[in-house]
Amino acid sequence: MVQVQVQQSDMSEPIISVRNLTKSYGDFHAVKGISFDVFEGEIFGLLGPNGAGKTTTLEIIETLREKTSGKIKVSGLDTDKDKNSIKQIIGVQLQSAGYYPNLNLSELIRLFSGLYNQKVDPVQLLASVGLREKSKAKFKGLSGGQKQRFSIATTLINDPEIVFLDEPTTGLDPHARRNLWELILDVRKKGTTVVLTTHYMEEAEILCDRVAIIEKGEVIALDSPEKLIDNLLNSGFHRKTVVKEATLEDVFLSLTGHEWKNED
Ligand code: ATP
Repeated sequence: MVQVQVQQSDMSEPIISVRNLTKSYGDFHAVKGISFDVFEGEIFGLLGPNGAGKTTTLEIIETLREKTSGKIKVSGLDTDKDKNSIKQIIGVQLQSAGYYPNLNLSELIRLFSGLYNQKVDPVQLLASVGLREKSKAKFKGLSGGQKQRFSIATTLINDPEIVFLDEPTTGLDPHARRNLWELILDVRKKGTTVVLTTHYMEEAEILCDRVAIIEKGEVIALDSPEKLIDNLLNSGFHRKTVVKEATLEDVFLSLTGHEWKNED
């Protein structure tokens, strides 16, 4: 078991601190005492194999799931005592089941902003995720990439301090994925902290300032992607096969290389 130091930063107080978090489902220990900090303005990734405990951890921080033990603070608020206040300052992707089928995208945004007691201009919000032209469309008529962008728009309605994205690019084509990366970087540029899970290591390498790698409910590594790669190389690792300077994904992007923004 690798010992992971919880990083201390001189720069700022953590916006999220997780200490000794555990979660058991009956006899099964899904999360076994994990600790990490997320700092303001970071894009922080939770990585790990299927079933590692990423979604469980994310939903406990979001106050959507009860923990078994541990201490979590979100922007100074305690998940045990301040659930409602935490919900006000975070953005969480809603289940698409909540997207009433008869409402168009503008109407859905209006409905959700009413629930948050926020005044939001739906068209402006949709434009910020590249969906201005779709404001009168129904959710079910969107492509996979557009659905994900809409789902990210719903997380921004309450102008949150922190946005949580669980596998935001799963199932998207390479263009749509890049489109989403740009959107996530835009969200961060506005000062919002982003916590995401992904199974795409290239995505984590490009987007995340730091990642926690979780396996069987434990954090087994926690650092910037660059540092983790350097550590591996310094341990004597080298790839068995020579890597070509282009990948099949590069071929795909080059062959289908249109101006992808707003077109996925
Ligand atoms: P994936 O990458 O597949 O989404 P994950 O890392 O997000 O996986 P979790 O969904 O957090 O994993 O699940 C962690 C473990 O806890 C899994 O073994 C899962 O089967 C179990 N688990 C999750 N929710 C429940 C539940 N409500 N009841 C019982 N076991 C659960």
